[in-house]
Amino acid sequence: MALNDGKRVCALCDEKFKTMKELKKHYEESHDDLELKYEEHVFNTDKGFEKWKKSGIVKLKSERKRHEKIGGSVKCGKTCPAFMNAIREQKEEAIKITVEYQSMHAGHEM
Ligand SMILES: [Zn+2]
Ligand SMILES: [Zn+2]
Repeated sequence: MALNDGKRVCALCDEKFKTMKELKKHYEESHDDLELKYEEHVFNTDKGFEKWKKSGIVKLKSERKRHEKIGGSVKCGKTCPAFMNAIREQKEEAIKITVEYQSMHAGHEM
């Protein structure tokens, strides 16, 4: 994932941030006209998660490819706020998959 490299650049005003978290906060505080669409999902089976991924993330994947294209060729690439984070925890038989998902795009052509 492209979420771990050095700089995040706001797609709207070119301000730079060290972490995605700071950039997220900036989007919320300085660009509240940009309506971020946060979703959180919790799954208790891998199957449920896979099913959700197939229904919704196929789209995100193709968008991510486009991000790489744009981000890779532009020197001061901007950071689109769209992302998906999945954390999988397992305790004996019990599985918990927490997904954080933001589907609003900015900073590049759709
Ligand atoms: Zn900004
Ligand atoms: Zn995007």
